[in-house]
Amino acid sequence: MILADRATAAYLGLAIGDALGATVEFMMPREIAAQYGTHDTLRGGGWLHLKPGQVTDDTTMSLALGNSILAQGKVDALAAAEAFDAWMRAKPVDIGNTVRRNLLQFRKTGIPEAPYSDHDAGNGAAMRVLPVALATFGQSDEAVRAACRAQAHVTHHCVLSDAACECLVFMVQDALRGASKNDLLHDHAHPLAAQYAAFKFRAVKPSLNPSGYVADTLPAVFQSFFDTDDFRDCLIDVVNRGGDADTTGAIAGMLAGALYGIEEIPEAWLNTLDTATAGACVTQAHSLIQLLK
Ligand code: MN
Ligand code: MN
Repeated sequence: MILADRATAAYLGLAIGDALGATVEFMMPREIAAQYGTHDTLRGGGWLHLKPGQVTDDTTMSLALGNSILAQGKVDALAAAEAFDAWMRAKPVDIGNTVRRNLLQFRKTGIPEAPYSDHDAGNGAAMRVLPVALATFGQSDEAVRAACRAQAHVTHHCVLSDAACECLVFMVQDALRGASKNDLLHDHAHPLAAQYAAFKFRAVKPSLNPSGYVADTLPAVFQSFFDTDDFRDCLIDVVNRGGDADTTGAIAGMLAGALYGIEEIPEAWLNTLDTATAGACVTQAHSLIQLLK
């Protein structure tokens, strides 16, 4: 499979997971089961009253970041902050509290780095890492980490968020290189959980109703990703856990897309994904993976 196809599958996977999960965001698993049985179609609705296939901030912030990277030719904190600020001014359908607070701070100070806070451990930086993974593909680990932090710290300056962002970016990059799911487990997910107990996902209860806390998000994503065998089952498993389902869906979709490739994404989901969004994801995936290579 060629690299650009995997990159494209990761981006479309992110958007599909976001659109699928948004329907059941903030619902409990038993409420989802009562309403839908198994929620497995891009039906829209949810608390945001979305159209079928419509995405939320997880995808639109990623696209805003990706555009800033392409305009600069690199990951640049100030350009990212300006892109996020313009995105916020355009009245997105949803926005996280930490993102809003630190972008308002950026408007005042012009400094594209939020002050350090252990409390800013939401998943808002982790949900939008994909453009960084694509743009820095092939660069040194240190360069990749620096780019991760530059984009993340615009809104989330926190050790757990950084650890999650870097782990996800390295997982995506290795999946793009053709690594197996077992490689991703042993080289990245287990070491993250070994370093930070908050990220433990094995020998713990199934993560249901995961909150927006990044150490709630990743265990849910990892349980679904490592305990299923294809793109569709992974996404259905993770969004039916409820909670911050658009974001767990987006992150799981990114990983599953990079691992399984475009052929594994159900056609019904591809066909229902908002057309303009799908086009932007495909275009950005191709441009970002070719950047400086
Ligand atoms: Mn969202
Ligand atoms: Mn969310």
